Amino acid sequence: MPGLSAYEKIAEPEEIRLLTRLGKRLAGRSFLHVNSTSEGGGVAEILHRLISLFRELGILARWEVLKGNPPFYDMTKRIHNALQGQGSEITPRMWEIHREVNDSNARQIPLEADLVFIHDPQPAALIHHRRDGLWVWRCHVDVSHPQPEAWRELAGHVGRYDAAIFSGAKFAQRLAVPQFVVPPSIDPLSEKNRDLGEQEVREILDGHGIGLDKPLLVQVSRFDRFKDPLGVIAAYRMVKKYHDCRLILAGGPASDDPEGEEILSRVREEARNDPDICVLLLPPFSDRTINALQRAATIVLQKSTREGFGLTVAEALWKSKPVIGGAVGGIPSQIHHGATGFLVHSVEGAAYRIRQLLHNPELGKRMGEMGREHVRRNFLITRQARDYLALWVALEHRGERVIQI
Ligand code: UDP
Repeated sequence: MPGLSAYEKIAEPEEIRLLTRLGKRLAGRSFLHVNSTSEGGGVAEILHRLISLFRELGILARWEVLKGNPPFYDMTKRIHNALQGQGSEITPRMWEIHREVNDSNARQIPLEADLVFIHDPQPAALIHHRRDGLWVWRCHVDVSHPQPEAWRELAGHVGRYDAAIFSGAKFAQRLAVPQFVVPPSIDPLSEKNRDLGEQEVREILDGHGIGLDKPLLVQVSRFDRFKDPLGVIAAYRMVKKYHDCRLILAGGPASDDPEGEEILSRVREEARNDPDICVLLLPPFSDRTINALQRAATIVLQKSTREGFGLTVAEALWKSKPVIGGAVGGIPSQIHHGATGFLVHSVEGAAYRIRQLLHNPELGKRMGEMGREHVRRNFLITRQARDYLALWVALEHRGERVIQI
């Protein structure tokens, strides 16, 4: 894995200096992370890299994964949905299972550390086994509109922590404990974001039968209603009357989500008679392909109608692409309308902005450059590492009038 010095050439020098200073201050201290999955998903990917950066700084960073059983995973999926406002019934027995699995894991996992980060709801009940150190609940989910009963149960655990962290102010809930906002980040050196040569990009696209002879509109997303792939096709159709271009919708297969499967088959149906619409079903771990698709794009779309942070936007901006995104979730923090891309509220709006950008490649280029700089300053992993360490120092000095970092 690349070390901190590899990021020195990319991130803001001040950010690296601060990170190093915080590292010196916290060297020799222990920092434990607990979540419920060691791979798959952006959270685990970034955690791998963060742990290695913290270790390089001399911090005794450790990562433990909660072990569950099928009823537990069924239950935590329900919690996940309920916290996002969807109607999943959670019975009292299910909450008991949640607690039992947390209790039995607490007997296996050494929980002693100076700072403990518990990620998401699955291991939240470990707090009842706290012995020492500071405990922080790190929430990656949007809990702004939860089912009240589910939130009440979870808040019973969260209220015992020293603090909670959310990915954005609008994803948070009212809590009795101090709250912090730490947005997610991307790793510029990962397989998904590292530089790729033009030749490599061409070969990867070639491998998928995608020609580069027309402007490419690309959306990389799960096939999910809220990512609005059908809206993207409708916008493309409006544009296609005036501009010859190609649309690529790339995303993971709808694993266990029956609605996702239906969306995918409707997308395929819509795409059937148009050789310029390419629906690409990506297997897990398609990072290099995603990287190439985003780099090959003329315009990247993320036309969501509901969104968490929307990491694909940061990924595309990092590749200097103009991005057209739905004005929802974390997208407006990444797309500054008219500067790093365009925010849209409708199919017509998306079509209008696609046409504008296709007409004016210089504008797209300028936006892409500004987008990359915006991501460089705000959404790289070094910023997230720095935030976590600054938060650690701040929590240890709670109540002091001035906290020197
Ligand atoms: N992604 C992926 N495979 C897919 C679709 C998406 O690896 O088939 C990646 C994408 O590059 C991004 C993440 O998964 O890093 C999706 O994060 P985002 O916040 O955009 O959306 P979510 O799926 O979490 O709602």
